[in-house]
Amino acid sequence: MTDVNTLGEFGLIEHLTKPFSLRNPSSIKGVGDDAAVIDNGTHCTLVSTDMLVEGIHFDLSYTPLKHLGYKAIVVNLSDIYAMNAHPRQVLVSIAISSKYTVEALEELYAGIKAACETYQVDLVGGDTTSSPRGMTISVTAIGEAKKERITYRSGARPGDLICITGDLGAAYLGLQILEREKRIWQEHPDIQPDLEGQAYLIGRQLKPEARRDMIEAFEKNSLVPTSMIDISDGLASELFHLCKQSGTGALIEESGVPIHLDTQLMAIKFRLDPITCALSGGEDYELLFTIDPRDTDKIRFLPDIYIAGEMLTSDAGIKLSTKGGKLHDLKAQGWRHF
Ligand code: ADP
Ligand code: MG
Repeated sequence: MTDVNTLGEFGLIEHLTKPFSLRNPSSIKGVGDDAAVIDNGTHCTLVSTDMLVEGIHFDLSYTPLKHLGYKAIVVNLSDIYAMNAHPRQVLVSIAISSKYTVEALEELYAGIKAACETYQVDLVGGDTTSSPRGMTISVTAIGEAKKERITYRSGARPGDLICITGDLGAAYLGLQILEREKRIWQEHPDIQPDLEGQAYLIGRQLKPEARRDMIEAFEKNSLVPTSMIDISDGLASELFHLCKQSGTGALIEESGVPIHLDTQLMAIKFRLDPITCALSGGEDYELLFTIDPRDTDKIRFLPDIYIAGEMLTSDAGIKLSTKGGKLHDLKAQGWRHF
């Protein structure tokens, strides 16, 4: 018998889904991108699903249920935006143990409602069942786009510019702070958690937002990125996906990777290198995308977009050029779920 850890998450998905091929002409894109793409004639429908498991993806000792509901929706919408599409509907399925009260679930759904309002999507269904322990939340997001605007992981070409939105590594450090305070609290229940001055990092962990604004700005500026992915597992892992599917290499400049000042300061407190947090931390839900260099003017005046490197031919590998001028092979450590 083979342990699932031998293949890793992506190896396992590949192994299990390889025997399947697409038989319906309306199935334009199946496994392997942020969302599946279905041709509906006048437009395309995008579908993506994600599961959150208590004890693996969330810890209720420091995650308010309302925030959890909000985040469960946002992380799914992020996958639809990563296709350069507009989310329209969500379905929410929950498996709950008897420790959850109606009031607790009302809190969860208050968060789900807040996200539906913020992102203007409709809750249109789901499923409810019991669980022997803890809670599992599964969200499916459905989106819409014109075929010619849909952006896949596979469209990057050598010479394309690599762009990153927002800033990276903050959610990972927010998690480190929450985990540290949990450990302290478990050992000394009389000590109050010290979260002073860390609202930005903790907010990035507990209440992430998806980059709807970017997709709207691309549309306004008639920009279709050549490839795109959302950054849920760390920049390095996502860049590997773009390169693998586009058949390219890449060069990232450390100095071009956006890292918030609070992230830099907190990384140092935890004796971590800020760039490592950006490359291998998780849950930023920013966008990593590439553009044809001729489209540079279309992003020139957009706020919160940073050019961090260039796509290369595949033989160049995937490299990081450090601030000290050294060239390193980038490792796709990412966020390991198993
Ligand atoms: P993301 O991080 O963007 O949510 P994932 O890494 O979870 O994407 O999934 C990568 C691709 O593999 C997606 O196309 C997803 O639909 C597909 N996938 C993941 N798990 C399974 C599964 N158990 N069976 C079929 N397809 C899967
Ligand atoms: Mg994704």
